[in-house]
Amino acid sequence: MAEVLMRGAEVNESMKERMVKQVELLKEKGVKPVINIVRVGSRGDDLAYEKGARKRMESVGIEMRVTEVSEDISQEDFVETFKKVNDDDSVHGIMLFRPLPEHLDESEIAGMINPAKDVDCMSPVNIAKVFMGDESGFAPCTAQAVMEMLSHYEIDLTGKNVAIVGRSMVVGKPLAMLMIKKNATVTVCHTKTDDLTEKCRNADIVVAAAGKAGMITGDMLGAGAIVADVGININEEGKLCGDVDFESAEPKASYISPVPGGVGGVTSSVLASHVIRAAEILSEI
Ligand code: NDP
Repeated sequence: MAEVLMRGAEVNESMKERMVKQVELLKEKGVKPVINIVRVGSRGDDLAYEKGARKRMESVGIEMRVTEVSEDISQEDFVETFKKVNDDDSVHGIMLFRPLPEHLDESEIAGMINPAKDVDCMSPVNIAKVFMGDESGFAPCTAQAVMEMLSHYEIDLTGKNVAIVGRSMVVGKPLAMLMIKKNATVTVCHTKTDDLTEKCRNADIVVAAAGKAGMITGDMLGAGAIVADVGININEEGKLCGDVDFESAEPKASYISPVPGGVGGVTSSVLASHVIRAAEILSEI
């Protein structure tokens, strides 16, 4: 049996304590942190994330605004709408739900967002900072959430072998950079990886971020592996599940995060912490 179940709620609780104090300090100086979400249409997963984010923001004293635009908005009108939010001095953090509908060009938005308000790492400036190991920018919230979870459970990355399954720009690749910065040796795996089992078995830490229900099974893990599951999937029975087959993996692991109840919920705490930092930077506090 795993020694430790890494629970998102525990990580959130300790992050909340810190954030409430930071927001109090900001308010004493006349600053109320504000995040503005920009949503195109009303996709179910966006609405679900928005609901969770609102709860998290309110719990620490951040105001959340939502700019909703129609799914058939033109690129020109979308850029215009986004510019208004970007230029609004009362807004400290902006998050755009992605992917955008195909007719909209995300790169134009990524190029224009103020990097100081770019709390979920769209801007090439923030992406470059993550890859340069410069911590003054904002890393993608989900990748940072894995780091927060490992840090909360006092897992030192120095000298550890890590296998990350998934190479997307929102999770796998930036997470590899954040872990290298903390002195881990990282193997980033993907669909063309030869012998994924061997890569995972040799790793001290396995991060599953592939979006494939239950693909990491216990026989793919070394004894005592630390397992962080980023996947959010709906299985054949219609239930929410991760990329890790918890039943077979849990007895092999020393630390493991469940789905639901693991990394997923920490993402919005990271988003809140980024908004607070953006408010501090923009208000020069
Ligand atoms: P993407 O689909 O963008 O990327 C998936 C990656 O996994 C790709 O690099 C792909 O390889 C790799 N992959 C897929 N199948 C396999 C396989 N069988 N073997 C090895 N590698 C594989 O997904 P995201 O990065 O956006 O998301 C990953 C998971 O994390 C999803 O379940 C998503 O729902 C979840 N997620 C959770 C968040 C949260 O907690 N709040 C936020 C964001 C994502 P290749 O590049 O070769 O195609």
